[in-house]
Amino acid sequence: MYAIGLVLVLVATINAGKHDQYSGYSVHGVKLRDDSDKVFITELTDSLDLDVWQDGVAGARDALVMLDPNSRLAVLDELDARGIQHYLHLRDVAQAFETHDEQINQWKQSRSGRLVPFNDYPRYAEVDAYLETIAAQYPELVTLVNAGQSYEGRDIKYLKISTTNFTDTSKPIYFMDAMIHAREWVTTPTALFSIHRLVEDLRDQDRDLLEDIDWIILPITNPDGYEFSHDDTRLWRRTRSINLEVSDTCFGVDGNRNFDVNWNTTGVSQDPCSQTYPGTSAFSEPETRILRDIFDEYIDRMEIFMNIHSHGNWVLYGFGNETLPPNAIHLHLVGAAMGAAMDAMKLPEADWYKVGNSAMILYGTSGSAQDYGQLVGVPLSYTLELPSYGFDFRVPPEYIEHINRETWEGIAVTARLARTTFRARQ
Ligand SMILES: [Zn+2]
Repeated sequence: MYAIGLVLVLVATINAGKHDQYSGYSVHGVKLRDDSDKVFITELTDSLDLDVWQDGVAGARDALVMLDPNSRLAVLDELDARGIQHYLHLRDVAQAFETHDEQINQWKQSRSGRLVPFNDYPRYAEVDAYLETIAAQYPELVTLVNAGQSYEGRDIKYLKISTTNFTDTSKPIYFMDAMIHAREWVTTPTALFSIHRLVEDLRDQDRDLLEDIDWIILPITNPDGYEFSHDDTRLWRRTRSINLEVSDTCFGVDGNRNFDVNWNTTGVSQDPCSQTYPGTSAFSEPETRILRDIFDEYIDRMEIFMNIHSHGNWVLYGFGNETLPPNAIHLHLVGAAMGAAMDAMKLPEADWYKVGNSAMILYGTSGSAQDYGQLVGVPLSYTLELPSYGFDFRVPPEYIEHINRETWEGIAVTARLARTTFRARQ
């Protein structure tokens, strides 16, 4: 008995410690009244290098900011002094993620034998196995491409899905990728579900999507960061590259600030420990170079690009410096159709999707995948921020199936509109 008790205590200790680095950290909702509040919060979070979980929009959406126990009172005092309302969103981040882990474990157990990777939070190896299996089972439809390796040497793979093996130049290409930001776990399932619906479970009403369009689907752009977020630091967002000339304590860069488009200008931090550090140069990261090369190879027919993130219910387009591409009306029309299609299926507890230029309705950025796609000639280049139902990065696994189906409806609508705009360009 004694030995068993000891083992149980040990197991409990190990589990309890998984997220200890966030012990005492709290997350606070902040209500922004106007743009000057927004500027104030941005300057405050930048100067203290705070982790912003959700950017706020004045009068529309609260910011979510994580505070450590040492600076919490000072930050809240600053907000109070300015008359900015705030509230406690999460009392203890470590505890919150332990609870989330437990939900995921229970979900896996309750679905044992029936669990498929797109209804779960699959590890890199499980995603890899799924891609390999699909490619092996549907060789006439699917080509698996190993696009190169991440910094730590993981293969970054994508599927090409086509009824004509990418040889019919009258078809547009739809490119989607997920998980450039490691902690946004719910993004990869939506990419996998798109593969599932195109290949394993094609419905009659979607047959045109398979026949008229060629697809490139890349489910994990940043596998190093993703695995690190599972094994070590749950809120890891960046890549995992090491550059000792820059820092010997902070590794990686924000992949979505690392593209060669207005690089290192807006919405970035020069602090190599910041979540928005853009790197020492554009395309310093192998992961972003892989996306660059995909654009390069397929740009002639690539009509639409969907860079999938979590969370916030946004469909966003360029440019991040508040200038608009010449086809902004088309971008808005297609983005709005996507938002409407997803809203038509929304759960009561979900936010409505908002659609617009990323800088005008959310915040300025530079070096983003969305902007790079637009710059190099993808007419319809988007950032998609999936819903979180108030659970930020802890979306309970029970919601994944719904997000997948809802997002697929949005993707289907945009694919058909992209087919129309592509044909109009020919
Ligand atoms: Zn993101």
